[in-house]
Amino acid sequence: MTKKALNPFEIAVQQFNNAVKHLDLPKDLCRILRAPALQLVVSVPTRMDDGTYKVFEGYRVQHNVARGPAKGGIRYHPGVTLDEVKALAAWMTWKCAVVNLPFGGGKGGVVCNTKEMSQGEIERMTRRFASEISVIIGPDRDIPAPDMYTNPQTMAWIMDTYSVGRGATTLGVVTGKPLSVGGSEGRSEATARGGVYAMREAAKVLKIPYKKATAVIQGYGNAGAICHKLLEKDGLKIIAVSDSKGGIHNPKGLSYKEVIKHKEKTGSVVGFPHTRKISNEKLLSLECDFLVPAALEGAITRNNAADVNAKVVAELANGPTTPEADDILHKNGVFLIPDIFCNAGGVTVSYFEWVQDLQAFFWDEERVNAELRNIMRRSFHDVYEISKKYKVHMRTAAYILAIGRVAEATKTRGIYP
Ligand code: NAD
Repeated sequence: MTKKALNPFEIAVQQFNNAVKHLDLPKDLCRILRAPALQLVVSVPTRMDDGTYKVFEGYRVQHNVARGPAKGGIRYHPGVTLDEVKALAAWMTWKCAVVNLPFGGGKGGVVCNTKEMSQGEIERMTRRFASEISVIIGPDRDIPAPDMYTNPQTMAWIMDTYSVGRGATTLGVVTGKPLSVGGSEGRSEATARGGVYAMREAAKVLKIPYKKATAVIQGYGNAGAICHKLLEKDGLKIIAVSDSKGGIHNPKGLSYKEVIKHKEKTGSVVGFPHTRKISNEKLLSLECDFLVPAALEGAITRNNAADVNAKVVAELANGPTTPEADDILHKNGVFLIPDIFCNAGGVTVSYFEWVQDLQAFFWDEERVNAELRNIMRRSFHDVYEISKKYKVHMRTAAYILAIGRVAEATKTRGIYP
């Protein structure tokens, strides 16, 4: 009998439970840390272009705010569920804690299909959603950011709606904004850049000759394509990449400039000259030093984990590996850089954006990247030391570090009343 696949919230709870086994925490405290602190469900009535009204359902969840305001993206997708948003909010709590940002975790979403909506409809829906959640967001309470199918323009609308309601421009209420309204230099490349800094550290501890290494990247959007660009700049050979239409492989290496030009022209990486077309499934089993899942959740499962032929899996995507696959990779000696750390570059530069907005003093890109490098380097070694001390894989180590920090803050603050 096949086992039912876990939903994202069940996976998040299982990852939490795996890590707390190693921590000597009171059961009551674990119950508090597992539960989302606040869940808001709103109706978002929106006037469509034909004059009719649609009512979309929207969510904002604050999982934990013991270490600071909630932080996390807003997702627009027809498949968004409250359970998914709860899981993503919990992951944000642990992600912010792993890299030691003074934030808790939050996430939001609206059930909608933006591919079928005009810009005007998306703007009106966004502004009404922002207005509905404005009772719980704010620079010192909960700071949204972009996620799937939301972008800097969406964040500008949210910032404007919140500011109009308050009667004062409030740049720090969201991050991932355009540069013209308080965005940060380096934000659009931050997720991939943070992941690359982590990969450099992994190469050092594993003694992989980094500049001669090979990499395979699944997903060619903001995270995956920028990762290609930065790894190539570091001297690595990227032998295969893919998007939703399939993958391309050339053992001699793929040039970022040419592949991105081809994707911009044709809509996909597939069909790029002098490459062999391969399936996304086959791509995951190619021999390489770094395998970078940068697309969807659930890419590496118990069905294909044994085929992974990489020395390191660097998870730029959120949740690309299931808990069963984690154990298989670990048993096979594959070193994992877990999502809650590997893709934390995005939220780290969001933190820098918030700091700059609050101070109304903006940094150049060099400073942004240098601060990011320091945080990713230090956090890599924090997590790596724990993995050695507790003899666990890097995911559990990252959770041990993160849960330990949030537990400490919760205990120190105490439970009111
Ligand atoms: P994106 O929408 O820019 O790109 C997604 C890419 O994945 C596209 O190229 C798409 O074609 C491809 N894709 C979709 N289905 C696929 C499949 N079945 N097989 C292979 N490729 C497929 O998204 P993004 O911003 O690059 O995000 C990718 C992942 O990284 C997500 O899991 C996201 O949560 C995570 N992430 C992104 C950021 C960020 O700042 N962009 C931050 C943290 C985590």
